[in-house]
Amino acid sequence: MAVMDAPTTVDDRPGPTDTLGRAMRDLRISVTDRCNFRCTYCMPKEVFGADYAFLPRDQVLTFEEIERTARTFVSLGVEKLRITGGEPLVRRDLPHLIEMLAAIRRPDGGEIDLTLTTNGSALRALAGSLAAAGLQRVTVSLDSLDDAVFGAMNGIDFPVAKVLDGIDAAIEAGLAPVKVNMVVRRGVNESSLLPMAAWARETGVVLRCIEYMDVGHSNGWRLDEVVPAAEIVEAIAAIWPVEPAEPAYRGEVAGRWRYTDGGGEFGVISSVTQPFCRDCTRARISAEGMLYTCLFAVEGHDLRALLRSGASDADLGDAIETIWLRRGDRYSELRSQATSSLPRIEMFAMGG
Ligand code: SAM
Ligand code: SF4
Ligand code: SF4
Repeated sequence: MAVMDAPTTVDDRPGPTDTLGRAMRDLRISVTDRCNFRCTYCMPKEVFGADYAFLPRDQVLTFEEIERTARTFVSLGVEKLRITGGEPLVRRDLPHLIEMLAAIRRPDGGEIDLTLTTNGSALRALAGSLAAAGLQRVTVSLDSLDDAVFGAMNGIDFPVAKVLDGIDAAIEAGLAPVKVNMVVRRGVNESSLLPMAAWARETGVVLRCIEYMDVGHSNGWRLDEVVPAAEIVEAIAAIWPVEPAEPAYRGEVAGRWRYTDGGGEFGVISSVTQPFCRDCTRARISAEGMLYTCLFAVEGHDLRALLRSGASDADLGDAIETIWLRRGDRYSELRSQATSSLPRIEMFAMGG
């Protein structure tokens, strides 16, 4: 098991740091707990069927509440906002929210980094208006280029061609470079890895292979279904030699590899086999306004109650700062038999 070391570099920019010296730089905002896919590793259809009770509308944060929360986080040092879900593009009028968030400025007047993670199914319809509203880039999740394999992963037989068309729409709208997230699950889509890498090299999208994670309790996760990042890198490097690339910024979760023939780069997110908790500068807000300081948090902090009880911006900021100052999360470094039985929030509910 990895042991927690001191942070690798000192972050002397303004803002609170937690008990392990980590600043708060990224905020993931879930705008809905709903999704039109039923990915087996996230919302398996056997569990999330027609009778599953998603959040009623009045319990979901309004755009005004999301903007106010995001603005407060930015005032405390957050520089990157990522919109997620559930599937964020199913939230009505999303471009309007993007417009509101794009107007937020950092305390030094600088722009924030504003991105979104999507399954891509509605990008053809929405990429243009999202870009016009101020969205800078998108990450699209795609687990295979083979319809049978992708259907087995997304749970609703959604065709690959429609996601590829969504990616094209994003590139045409200027939401580039597009990153593509691929969850690699042993025995299900491993065979798609090299075709995905070849396709990414040709098209210029940045592939990011994600180790299958034990998020939530619905997906029946087993360690033997995880394809370790080292094995992923080895398989790709056997065809196209690679060398390590420097992280773009502290807190970047993907290990980056560059093709030595100039064919671009790819990333691996090794949360299971090589945890990166020591550099985790990320907070998450669920669609109902709970603040989570770790993907595996057992409980959240209810910001919606504060927002709806007349708290001032200063009260909200103080509450968030206090929560961050007390943070000591490092679940992935402690992952074990004992931690696996702890209660966990589903990823689609927390905002993956
Ligand atoms: N619906 C959007 C999508 O799929 O891109 C955004 C939300 S989704 C929860 C965010 C990311 O989490 C996706 O890239 C998805 O593949 C990833 N994800 C979900 N469950 C996962 C798991 N068990 N292990 C690793 N990644 C997972
Ligand atoms: Fe939906 Fe994304 Fe989860 Fe798949 S990974 S079920 S697209 S929220
Ligand atoms: Fe961050 Fe928690 Fe993941 Fe560690 S386990 S990297 S603290 S979200």
